[in-house]
Amino acid sequence: MKLKQISEHIWSIKTWCIIPIHVWLVADQDGVTLVDAGVPFMAKGIVKSVNKLDVGPLQRILLTHGHSDHVGAINKIKIGKDIPIYAHPIEIPYAVGEAPYPGRKKPEKTLASQVIHPLEADDKGKMLTIGGLTPYLTPGHSPGHVAYYHEKDGVLLAGDLFTSKKGKLHQPMPMFTADMKKAVKSSTILEQLQPKRLEICHGMSVFNPAKQVNNYIKRMNEKYV
Ligand SMILES: [Zn+2]
Ligand SMILES: [Zn+2]
Repeated sequence: MKLKQISEHIWSIKTWCIIPIHVWLVADQDGVTLVDAGVPFMAKGIVKSVNKLDVGPLQRILLTHGHSDHVGAINKIKIGKDIPIYAHPIEIPYAVGEAPYPGRKKPEKTLASQVIHPLEADDKGKMLTIGGLTPYLTPGHSPGHVAYYHEKDGVLLAGDLFTSKKGKLHQPMPMFTADMKKAVKSSTILEQLQPKRLEICHGMSVFNPAKQVNNYIKRMNEKYV
């Protein structure tokens, strides 16, 4: 597993499990936030990386969504520790197996219901910044998928909202994407936030991704007419 600093407050941890898998560590005054929890064998490396950074304890785990390749290391990381886990309230019923993900026959319980907290929002519905990261609902790949924006560093941690090839935006994996049209619509988050850098779970970084959005949407609309 490879630990790499990608901005002042953010490190990525990368491994391979047929496809590349990234998770991220984000440093804040009170310690470290883990964004997504990969697959089970990443647990040891994640804990080691938190210790190596030496910027405080692991305070919380934020999830972009509840698919099994994003929550796998949670159980081992949590052994002996009380670390809260957050996801969007729309995503929780799917992740805890109360409802099947759209397009799936059976519900899949990827998380125990008692360990997952809903991300909080203000009265206007804007989600509250947590650990230096502001969540934005970006549905499509899954119903309650969120991307986390680190405004200070200009980095958007976007889970499975996209994949990428050679610095270029590509669609999320169709086989695992509930509603591709919705996912494409959610890509306008890049225009709204204008991040300097986009990080995705199954692909490499994309710099100034907002410049590519129009072209990406055009390509996708031609593909899915
Ligand atoms: Zn996914
Ligand atoms: Zn994934």
